[in-house]
Amino acid sequence: MNLLEHLNPPQKQAVEHKDGPLLILAGAGSGKTRVITYRIGWLILEAGVYPEQILAVTFTNKAAGEMRERVDDILSAHGAGDDAEAVTISTFHSFCARLLRRHADRLGLDWNFNIYDGDDQLKLVKQVMELEGRPKDRSESRRLRGYINRMKNQGYTPELAHENAFNAVDEEDATFYETYQEKLREANCADFGDLILGVLEIFRDDPRLADSYSRHWRYLMVDEFQDTNPAQYELLKHLTRCHDNLAVVGDDDQAIYRWRGATVANILGFEKDYEDAQVIKLEQNYRSTSVILEAANDVIKHNPTRRDKKLWTEREGGDKISLFTGGDDREEATFVARRIHEMAKAGADWGDFAVFYRTNAQSRQFEEQLQNWGVPYQVVGGISFYERSEIKDVLAYLKVALNPDNEVDFLRIINTPSRRIGKVTIEKLQRAARVPGIGTLYRAVRYAAGHLEPSAVGDAPIEPEPFDVADEEALADVDSLRGRTNSGVEDLCELLFSLRDQIAADEGLAHVSEFLLDQINYHSYLESDDAERVDDRWRNVRELLGAMEEFEQDFEAREFGPTEDADAPEGTDMVAESRLAKLLGAFLDRSALVHSTDQMDEKGAVTLMTVHGAKGLEFDTVFLAGMEDEIFPSVRDQFDAEEIHEERRLAYVAITRARHKLYICNARRRRIYGKTRNTDPSRFLLDIDPERIEIDPQSTSKRIRYSSRRTSNRGGYDAFRQATEQAYFGSGVDQDAWEFDQSPPMYKNQVSKAVKKTLAEAEDGDFDTSF
Ligand code: ATP
Ligand code: MG
Repeated sequence: MNLLEHLNPPQKQAVEHKDGPLLILAGAGSGKTRVITYRIGWLILEAGVYPEQILAVTFTNKAAGEMRERVDDILSAHGAGDDAEAVTISTFHSFCARLLRRHADRLGLDWNFNIYDGDDQLKLVKQVMELEGRPKDRSESRRLRGYINRMKNQGYTPELAHENAFNAVDEEDATFYETYQEKLREANCADFGDLILGVLEIFRDDPRLADSYSRHWRYLMVDEFQDTNPAQYELLKHLTRCHDNLAVVGDDDQAIYRWRGATVANILGFEKDYEDAQVIKLEQNYRSTSVILEAANDVIKHNPTRRDKKLWTEREGGDKISLFTGGDDREEATFVARRIHEMAKAGADWGDFAVFYRTNAQSRQFEEQLQNWGVPYQVVGGISFYERSEIKDVLAYLKVALNPDNEVDFLRIINTPSRRIGKVTIEKLQRAARVPGIGTLYRAVRYAAGHLEPSAVGDAPIEPEPFDVADEEALADVDSLRGRTNSGVEDLCELLFSLRDQIAADEGLAHVSEFLLDQINYHSYLESDDAERVDDRWRNVRELLGAMEEFEQDFEAREFGPTEDADAPEGTDMVAESRLAKLLGAFLDRSALVHSTDQMDEKGAVTLMTVHGAKGLEFDTVFLAGMEDEIFPSVRDQFDAEEIHEERRLAYVAITRARHKLYICNARRRRIYGKTRNTDPSRFLLDIDPERIEIDPQSTSKRIRYSSRRTSNRGGYDAFRQATEQAYFGSGVDQDAWEFDQSPPMYKNQVSKAVKKTLAEAEDGDFDTSF
């Protein structure tokens, strides 16, 4: 098989580009990802590059997994299947987590540091707020977390945050960030942003170390480059210090992570930083029919400051886009379920279908209706497996066993299941933790259990350790704990000790977890916590143990980067030296980095996901739901023009996922958080040339009178009225209800509270952790 046979001329040119910077800027479905995988194959098979020298970076684990599979196929077809394993294909975050493990001590972290997810991070922010005597304030804690993440995405340490502060508020935030960072280090933990920023700090400090990595990975490739943030971009620059073999592919029209710090400016920056970059455009779309492609273009062309791109397809024509408007969101969902059912009966596979929505909250209706129609489905996103409380409980114990300084997780397990360690006691322990010489909650607990002595001599049963008493007063508080029988505190200590013993003794991971579940009587705890859901939750726990076993079987500490540069862990103890500690560390890293869009592996099921999660994917038939103003686009700040541009790019991403058939759905009335509201059709829907749309015959045509509304008449779409009005209002529409004006689109002053809430939540949780 000729490797280049399945590529068009510009794709070929990109694949055969060996040395020097390369920028592929091209529209959706033009084969950008395909070029990356073929180029990896070509470098190894034809250009004499060692697979170890290649590093490919993407944003989600799923994309990385898919890329590895494709590379594996290409190499296997040429009898070089073994080489695929040796290529480093990773997400930015996993890649950096591995680097950080090798050099943790350079950041003041111990080898056994844990990774905090967004939730843990918020808990720490709240702790710091409390420490600083700030009032409890939910939105403020979220704001501060957002600020810290923004700084990290920019590549700013607290120091740099200070330097770049514009005003007193910035200064104050930067100071907060500084304290937060101290606390994070004390807990021997890193948050997501730290993974990248941490590596940057290490490279900034020691350019020679960066050099050696740069010499190791000689060929770098980045997919979805438009969504890299400045920190990630700086990382790429460090990694190309000794060469300039950086190939990036992206599409400025698909930049959808501006709110997470990504900036299209990186694309411009690339051409400046790598002056002699070869720029290749791909213009043929292989994914979609021309109807779908043109519709996507109708929408995106309203964005100013785009790079001009042409996209064409050989697949002229194609089915028109079907528009369905339901009376309410339930009708919308019923339509989708029924239509999928019909099409599957006619021969389509469940896996050919996807339903996209703007926010996770919209998934419920679809789930219900798909269940009613007996359609198998999987929801991607929402709460991920590793975010479930029972999974977090078990992992928290293991994290603490590995890294007892981890305060957030320590607080999670201290009284779960109950050991009668009450709130007051915990507060006292936290106060004691701040006494110099005690230092951490773990040590405070051990003090309370009698394992630490204020003098050199003690008679506690397990390793009494001395410490300096510097803060008599706070200590006196905890001393009062010591006097009483404190079986809870003692039990916890015993448990942690035996877990650590087992890790040191290299017991199996699942075996250790089994022991843990037994010791804490976790099943009974689940029963008493929520009797109704106990079976489900227990099944999840078993599933976790299964995942551990699987991981354990596949685990081998694979070579990563230049071997001579690994920093040996300092102060190694029995635990540190055990294989299980490394295995557990790797397992915990992976579970922390699994994003909610990553669990998509079920074949034979309809996929339900947010548009953000759909990036890079393709499906035969796509249902784009909730196409109503305020839902999609959902705009929080009407004065922020960039926000609507980003929403538009998001719509472009959604439309371009469809191969053969696109359905656009909406509802005239929608219930959000208990309130039913009338809706307007999405302005993006109105941007599509009605020629390409047909009203689905099942669209309800109940006549409703609408109050006067504004919408802009961009391009005088008279025909749009016919199509959309008919769908939206039925045939007897009251023309006066429509008011057109020529002014630029303005957004309603009142973005509904519900939508704001959904968005805030979405931003906090659902897609915040994606990479
Ligand atoms: P996106 O912008 O959505 O990430 P992309 O530019 O990465 O899209 P790919 O996913 O690589 O595009 O390709 C889109 C589809 O077109 C895939 O199914 C791919 O296999 C197919 N394809 C790409 N190039 C060719 C080609 N030369 N011949 C046949 N099929 C192709
Ligand atoms: Mg792609």
